[in-house]
Amino acid sequence: MIITRCAPSNTGFFHIGTARTLYFNYLFARSQNGKLILRIDNTDVDRSEQKFTDLIYETISKLNIEFDLTFKQSERLDRYKEISESLISKDQAKRNEDNSISFIYNGDDIYQWEDFVGGNIKCSKQENLISREFIIIRNNGLPTYNFATVVDDIDYNISHIIRGTDHIPNTLKQIFLYKALTDSLPKFGHIGLLTKNGKKISKRDKEADFLLLLNEYKPEAILNYILKLGWNLPDPNIDQKLPLINKQKAIEVFMNGKMKSSPSNVDMNKLTWLNKKY
Ligand code: GLU
Repeated sequence: MIITRCAPSNTGFFHIGTARTLYFNYLFARSQNGKLILRIDNTDVDRSEQKFTDLIYETISKLNIEFDLTFKQSERLDRYKEISESLISKDQAKRNEDNSISFIYNGDDIYQWEDFVGGNIKCSKQENLISREFIIIRNNGLPTYNFATVVDDIDYNISHIIRGTDHIPNTLKQIFLYKALTDSLPKFGHIGLLTKNGKKISKRDKEADFLLLLNEYKPEAILNYILKLGWNLPDPNIDQKLPLINKQKAIEVFMNGKMKSSPSNVDMNKLTWLNKKY
């Protein structure tokens, strides 16, 4: 069974990159009769805010994307504690003086993995070294991102993880945690970042604020637009014959195309053009 998830953090406005990740996870699951889970990553107490959680729900409802299950990480704090204690009892973690808990990986080094979007991804000796030991529970008792995400992805049987290439540096740590906690690994697929004029799109760019786009353009046009930010049909001629790919059509053709790991440039003229067509 294909199970994907989208895991936005409630630490800021809804980013266009999050919308694109959400849509790709949705299409990947729906086109293969799989399931899609929404998880709110809200354990960063310093930056998490309820108003950003509300914004996530509001944005998703405007896009008309349905999930099979929704949960928040803050509901699972006991579970993260339980798993961290079990790692301590197996000597795969240790409690530090300040009461935080560090994971300690004592298995074989891993120097590469197969990414189902980007192909073979290599890791250096240095990355292996720094990924073998890291904090999983902070001294305030809350889990770190890498730990909570792996515990959840295991518990919810996530089969495919589709997210931005900015998470590649986390993946080795996560693979080491998987090795300590279970026998199988999910498949990782890292999609290229969104850029504007060749530079990573920043929070200050107005194109990055997805709610602003939703106020100005039709949701169907926006979904069609973000689909083309990092996904293509293999044959450019078919692509030209299908300039409009609505959600239903996208579910039908998604697996005929390919997601890509190289960056995609955000171009509002294309969105304006699509908006007129819908
Ligand atoms: N909360 C993380 C983010 O928003 C999730 C990353 C992931 O998909 O593992 O980037």
